[in-house]
Amino acid sequence: MSEEKEDKTNKQDKDYEGFCYMCRRPESVVGKLIKLPHDISVCQECMQNVFDKFNNMPNGYMDMMNPVMFQFPMNDMPEQPKVKAKPKAKKKEDGEEQEKPLTLKDIPAPHKIKGELDEFLIGQDYAKKVVSVAVYNHYKRVVENAMDDIEIEKSNMLMIGPTGSGKTYLVKTLARLLNVPLAITDATSLTEAGYIGDDVESVISKLLAAADNDVEKAERGIVFIDEIDKIAKKRNTNSRDVSGESVQQGLLKLLEGSDVEVPVGATNKNAMVPMVTVNTRNILFICGGAFPELEAIIKARLNKKSSIGFEADLKDKYDRDPNLLKQVSLEDLREFGMIPEFLGRLPVVFTLEGLTKEMLVKILKEPKNAILKQYQKLLALDEVELLFEEDALEAIAEKALEKKTGARALRAIIEEFMLDIMYEIPKDDAIGRVTITRDYIEHKGGPRIELRGAQAALPG
Ligand code: ADP
Repeated sequence: MSEEKEDKTNKQDKDYEGFCYMCRRPESVVGKLIKLPHDISVCQECMQNVFDKFNNMPNGYMDMMNPVMFQFPMNDMPEQPKVKAKPKAKKKEDGEEQEKPLTLKDIPAPHKIKGELDEFLIGQDYAKKVVSVAVYNHYKRVVENAMDDIEIEKSNMLMIGPTGSGKTYLVKTLARLLNVPLAITDATSLTEAGYIGDDVESVISKLLAAADNDVEKAERGIVFIDEIDKIAKKRNTNSRDVSGESVQQGLLKLLEGSDVEVPVGATNKNAMVPMVTVNTRNILFICGGAFPELEAIIKARLNKKSSIGFEADLKDKYDRDPNLLKQVSLEDLREFGMIPEFLGRLPVVFTLEGLTKEMLVKILKEPKNAILKQYQKLLALDEVELLFEEDALEAIAEKALEKKTGARALRAIIEEFMLDIMYEIPKDDAIGRVTITRDYIEHKGGPRIELRGAQAALPG
């Protein structure tokens, strides 16, 4: 660049022509720049726009320097700058009540948390107990933030359990009962920054949205990352597999606690929306996965141990052990493909049991919002009583077991036969009671229909 031209620049940078700080167009295009304090130059067009909009800016001059607050007519916008300012938290708005800071008294004791979980979740006693204690400790840590000398470790969790055993349901129930925002994401949708897909920080955007853009609320929320086993390093392969591993790497900082810049009101960083900083230090991360083949790894480890010395005769004693998963160790998870640094940030590891027939029957009828109760309520609105024979419930549970998708199969099975009931019953005002039988579930007969006053059995 010639001496002559250099004179024309705003002297910010000797190697480049001067440009408008706001629209980034060079001086040769926009004409003479207006020089402002702090070595800032603005073109006349932008300056005019600023004057036009200036009155609406909440923070006056400083916002004027922020292109995000300022919509440009130009297409070639500079890279989006980050706005460090926190958005106006809802609670601080006029007329709204100030939210009290969280105190130790607000956190329910572990037995109370478990008691509430019991009303919704059947079985999984061990998991419910571990979660109750971990959550209690986590929020104690959040409250006692100020006592820095002895730092309480973060209780992020790793939950291992078969599909449909209630992992997501457990977390959802927990968040509802603690009244904290919850974001659920699928590890398979996460990618390393720069690749197609959501980068790991998108989970914090989701959490912020769940907290109605209230940063402080989001910072006390829960993030559930499902299918975490899908980002394991591939085992027994010679090809270089970096995708899963790099997502694990990407999550490390989030799990531990770091400042994350996220867009407000959008999950897309490229959108022209302001960014806020969310600190993940007090966010509780729960990772969940079915970890297929983990049992084989555990078994291999246990067998290796027992083949040495006097335990050798017990070699196949683990083959039919239904609680094998409970014996999982960090070594097994590493073998599965989770990296040690990742596991190190999930200090609470626990398992959920596969659901048995008895548990499935209970799930049908016992939880507070059990599926059967929901259908009974629906039919009650037509003044029809809906009954299920115990044997019919067992038949449904048996069918569900065959599908191997845990409790998830229940709803699909019930919906299938309830469709006919819900369609046929309102046709006839005389019907007062419908009883679902095993025969009906097994397509061997119809439900038992009783008319108001009289009784009649309909053939199937
Ligand atoms: P996953 O373990 O695959 O995350 P979910 O939590 O999504 O399974 O379970 C699917 C559905 O099955 C839930 O919405 C819930 O209604 C039901 N369910 C699963 N396990 C239980 C349980 N232990 N008690 C009550 N309902 C359950």
